[in-house]
Amino acid sequence: VVAGQEDDVAPATRLSNRLRAAVLGATDGIVSNSALTVGVAAAATTREPVLLATIAAVLAGAGSIAVSEYVSVSSARDAQQADLDRERREHEQRPHLELVELATMFEERGASPETARAMAEELSQADALAAHAREELGLTEELAARPLEASASSAAAFLAGGSIPIIAILVAPLGVLIPSVAVATAAALVLLGLASAAVGGANRGRAILRIVTGGMLAMAVTAVGSLLLGIEL
Ligand SMILES: [Zn+2]
Repeated sequence: VVAGQEDDVAPATRLSNRLRAAVLGATDGIVSNSALTVGVAAAATTREPVLLATIAAVLAGAGSIAVSEYVSVSSARDAQQADLDRERREHEQRPHLELVELATMFEERGASPETARAMAEELSQADALAAHAREELGLTEELAARPLEASASSAAAFLAGGSIPIIAILVAPLGVLIPSVAVATAAALVLLGLASAAVGGANRGRAILRIVTGGMLAMAVTAVGSLLLGIEL
C-alpha cells in the first residue's frame, strides 16, 4: 500500500466504522421487531397485545444493543490501550531498538536503508508513539474504538428500525396487519440494503437480496413458531 492510497482509504474506513454500527442497529431493529410483531399478530384477535409487545420489544432491544455495543467496543478499546501502553514502555526502556524496528518496517515496504533510517528518525522526533501506533499496530485516531459513540448510534438506529412495525401496527387495518407489516418491512429493508451497498461499495442487487431474504425468513419462522404454539390472545 502506498501512502497516497492510505489517504484515500482512511476516510472510507472511518465512515464505514460509524455506519457499520448504524446499519447493524437498523437491520436488527427492523427484523427482530417485525418478526415479533408478526409472531404475536398471528395469535392475536385485537391490536393492543400486538402493539404492547412490539413497543416493549423495541425498548428492550434498544437497551440490549446499547449495552452489547458498549461492552464489545470497550474491550476492543482496552486491547488498543494495552498495545499502546506496551509501545510506550518499550519506547522508554529501549528507544534505540524501537528506532531500528521502525526503520526495518520502512525497509520491508521497499525504502532503501538510508531513507528508512531517516524516516524513522524524523517520525520519531515528531511523535514516536504515534509513529509506532500507526506503522506497527495499524492504529490511527480514526480507527480508535469509541464505545459511547458506537453504543449511541446503534441504539438510535435500532429505535428507528423498530418504529417501522410500530407505525404499521398503528395505521394498518387489523385484518391485513401481517401483510402490512411484511410489506413495510420489505420496503425498509430494500432501503437499508441500498445504504449498506453504498457503505461497502458492494453490489446493490446482492445486498438487497440478502437483507430482504433474511428479514422475510425471520418473520416467516416466527409466524410459524407462534402458530404451532396454538395460543390465542
Ligand atoms: Zn514499537
